[in-house]
Amino acid sequence: MTQTATYQKPDEQGYYGKFGGAYIPEMLHRNVEELRTKYLEIMYEDSFQEEFNALLHDYVGRPTPLYLAQRLSALHKTNIYLKREDLNHTGAHKINNTVGQILLALRLGKKRIIAETGAGQHGVATATVCALKGIDCVVYMGEKDIERQAPNVARMKMLGATVIPATSGSKTLKDATNEAIRAWINDPLDTHYIIGSVVGPHPYPDMVARFQSVISAETRKQLKEKTGSELPTHVVACVGGGSNAAGAFYHFLEEPAVKLVAVEAAGHGVHSGFSAATTQLGKPGILHGSKSLLMQTADGQVVEPHSISAGLDYPGVGPLHAHLYDSGRGIFLSATDDESLAAAFELAKLEGIIPALESAHALAALYQLTFAPTDQVVVCLSGRGDKDLATYMKVMEEK
Ligand SMILES: *Cc1c(COP(=O)(O)O)cnc(C)c1O
Repeated sequence: MTQTATYQKPDEQGYYGKFGGAYIPEMLHRNVEELRTKYLEIMYEDSFQEEFNALLHDYVGRPTPLYLAQRLSALHKTNIYLKREDLNHTGAHKINNTVGQILLALRLGKKRIIAETGAGQHGVATATVCALKGIDCVVYMGEKDIERQAPNVARMKMLGATVIPATSGSKTLKDATNEAIRAWINDPLDTHYIIGSVVGPHPYPDMVARFQSVISAETRKQLKEKTGSELPTHVVACVGGGSNAAGAFYHFLEEPAVKLVAVEAAGHGVHSGFSAATTQLGKPGILHGSKSLLMQTADGQVVEPHSISAGLDYPGVGPLHAHLYDSGRGIFLSATDDESLAAAFELAKLEGIIPALESAHALAALYQLTFAPTDQVVVCLSGRGDKDLATYMKVMEEK
């Protein structure tokens, strides 16, 4: 029996339109198959939902506020609400997913966790839940990112994780992911791989989107309380692999009245050769276990991405987002390094909130949209800027 895929639910093989699937080495087949056949059943057991929701509430600090940013709203002559994922424990949305996956891994009887990380946020969120549950944790991280994100490396170590540098390629997220997959192949039975975004082989993109969907579930409820309507006119989110965007969009995916705006990192400019604007530059290809849009050369070599923010520095994008782009359901924009830096400083001065550089891309893109005074715009503020302070300090010194 085949089921029809929707934006919220891929088909049985994990396809959203042309994108998705599970392209994995034979050695991982048993693991991924175990996950595929069990994830929904485990996730929607009453005892799982109870434990997951209790941890989100008492440990992560949810629900996160939906904040009407009045001075930012006045600037853009509309109503802008910030969904405050920056206020989560560990400083970003990533922990929603790692809390979910650690509970799943324990129910699958796994003894060890591995993860990849770019900015270090997913590594910290993974090391955190491993400490919480007393389970071994190994995090793979590009050598260049280890230099850029020293405080997060220290956090992971303090939380008891082992951090292993990835020294191939651009020494960033893509290379860390390759290393993590390699490590998983070496020890597939006892190890669960906690992927940090809506990427990887089916069922990861769907599973991660479901764990992150708490963002839009809360947004609907909070917006209704504030405005009387559950539906905003726009939801705006930055996209690296696409997990905060998937979570912020999820409960609006089947609401055509809501404009879904995804913002990628343009780096020095989309066509500068130093960019991570995957949907603009990408072609269909296979990376890290799924078919999606991918920055690649004519002969299929992955192009090294660039973004000032380590969390957006990825040459691919999750299959849901490739489908949102391909089908026209999503509006895909991009913001440059400089535009995003300016937006970060602007939010700090206007609202007293220092955003992560990734989230600043979503704020920068507001200038590319036109709003009516009655619009209700939700921006997913995916994380806080503490980890980016060294970059912000450099900008201030240069001024
Ligand atoms: C990791 C990260 C991102 C990018 O990841 P997505 O999966 O695209 O959400 C965005 N913002 C912050 C703060 C991050 O840490």
